Amino acid sequence: MIQITALPAFTDNYIWLLQDTDSRRCAVVDPGDCAPVQAWLAANPGWVLSDILITHHHHDHVGGVQLLKKATDAKVYGPASETIPARDVALRDNDRITVLGHEFAVIAVPGHTLGHIAYYHRGWLFCGDTLFAAGCGRLFEGTPGQMHASLSRLAALPGDTQVYCTHEYTLSNLRFAAAVEPQNPDVLDRLATVTGQREAGIITLPSTLDLEKRTNPFLRTGETSVKQKADERTGTDNSKPDMVFAALRAWKDTF
Ligand code: ZN
Ligand code: FE
Repeated sequence: MIQITALPAFTDNYIWLLQDTDSRRCAVVDPGDCAPVQAWLAANPGWVLSDILITHHHHDHVGGVQLLKKATDAKVYGPASETIPARDVALRDNDRITVLGHEFAVIAVPGHTLGHIAYYHRGWLFCGDTLFAAGCGRLFEGTPGQMHASLSRLAALPGDTQVYCTHEYTLSNLRFAAAVEPQNPDVLDRLATVTGQREAGIITLPSTLDLEKRTNPFLRTGETSVKQKADERTGTDNSKPDMVFAALRAWKDTF
């Protein structure tokens, strides 16, 4: 059985830890810092770190890889088209890998960075800085059209998929979602829930794709009310969902 838990890093990153309780082997996703992982391994003797999965090249996702590789010789997976330290396996769209006895599909999700990939196994999505709870990553390298297509691909996965993204941005994302859709009861409910969770210091992840489709404005660019808000912002007719997406992303950048 696989157990998935978050190891907090820096101020708002999560390093996802996958534990195979039968073999006592584990894997981590996006260890931007080696310290939380090494502390966990030290506190849990007998566990072996066998795999390191990387979604994209930003330092807060790869900063701990080199030292973890040295300490554990875990196999490092990462996108083929980005520079990833100590990478053993270079991955492209639709590749399949087996980690802790489970098969994961690789999904290319350009936008935040051009080579960004996500890892999907039935029920679990590790999507780095592409899809966030109630938001999405900034466009550092890609175009709005690319990111919109990437998010649409993720949104097409089964609704009960658990979304394991890399940052605790949910509360600020929901404040933006409420500005986009002030009448959406699901957004307002979630904003209240997440406000309480953050006041109590509780993690707001994982999310589910069903919840994202109801509350994440970046997955709701086809909704008339969302389009109207985007049109108000740009003063133009955003006639296609990727134009609505571009307007929302630009608005969020200065929100
Ligand atoms: Zn990033
Ligand atoms: Fe990040």
